Amino acid sequence: MESSEKTAWLSILTNTLLVCIKTAVALASGSVAVVADTIHSLTDVVSAAVILIGIKIARRPARGFPYGLYKVENLVALLTSLLILFAGYEILKTVIFGGSRPLPENIPLSIVGICATLIITWLFSRYELKKGEETGSPSLIADARHVWTDMLSTLVILAAFVGSALGLGLDTFAAVIVVFFIARSAMTILVDSVRVLLDASLDFATITKIRDIVLSDPRVVQINQLWARNAGRYKFVELDLVLRINDLERGHSLTEEIENRVKFEIPQVDRVLIHFQSQGKTKEVIAIPICADRQTISMHFGEAPFFRLVDLQQPNNTVTEDRQLENPFLEEKKAKGIKVAQWLLENEVTTLLSLQDQSGKGPGFVLGNSGAEILLTESTNADAALAAFVANKGEAL
Ligand SMILES: [Zn+2]
Repeated sequence: MESSEKTAWLSILTNTLLVCIKTAVALASGSVAVVADTIHSLTDVVSAAVILIGIKIARRPARGFPYGLYKVENLVALLTSLLILFAGYEILKTVIFGGSRPLPENIPLSIVGICATLIITWLFSRYELKKGEETGSPSLIADARHVWTDMLSTLVILAAFVGSALGLGLDTFAAVIVVFFIARSAMTILVDSVRVLLDASLDFATITKIRDIVLSDPRVVQINQLWARNAGRYKFVELDLVLRINDLERGHSLTEEIENRVKFEIPQVDRVLIHFQSQGKTKEVIAIPICADRQTISMHFGEAPFFRLVDLQQPNNTVTEDRQLENPFLEEKKAKGIKVAQWLLENEVTTLLSLQDQSGKGPGFVLGNSGAEILLTESTNADAALAAFVANKGEAL
């Protein structure tokens, strides 16, 4: 059994037990506040059942519903919240128009019963919070907080009973406060379910996280569009990307990589749909590793002190920019070559002119995966190698 399923079952059992105790107290005392609290616990049983139904339904494929039946959970939650609000309204009506009420009876016994429900509620809230933090489940943590406010409303009832024992008629006031708690939790459920049913976007923090994960890959040029929504407890993400890749197959494997990374880092993601287009070449950027004299091509890649970057406007190979950048990873201890390769990609390098064959090595893979070419040159002079490249229009040197 899935752990969320187990927690839902435990929640149903706990709340059913609470309903039983509270019903007994309500019958023994005649307190309208306890009746309200009983109805609240009853709605909690229904909410937990809804969660369980949601978990079960979400697993079942349905031919007529290709996007899944996830939203059944939200629909049932919406109906439940309306039921809760109606129950609250009924209690309020009883309190306001019910005339003066006698003081509750069997007070000592009722206080014992209420204390028992307080202890059960507290234990369950602690358990749920622990499970929620263990699994990082926001819905469990939210529910634990809900159970915590349930405890407050039960405390109000306890206070009213103590007041009644002293001859103060606090029962109706307590009932009004309990109804307020009921209405508040119902409104939260109502608003959340309507938001999901209307395909509201995911929260800002999650959107930002997805954006960061996608843009952290140097092969992604930009995100044109990012849509993300909830359905039931699951998240659906759609992305429109521009990739620094010209090869269709490589583009697809990159989108798969991105999809897995998003699913790994963000819980409950059901589907990540990625459309992409390649950047297209309007310019070539040639990188040449050079020595300290800034002219001789370096035998090394990661250890080259400088890189000469030349922008060639396509299709005429007109030089639009020619600059020499210091290798920022020269002092790096680990994975120097790979870091330099990534840095070159960030500088939009499309071709590396090299004296050394990089194929089968880390930097070769990094560049190759992004569709950057590595061309071997025979000349050791940067100007000569560049001239040969332009003369051959990027064909073999
Ligand atoms: Zn509750």
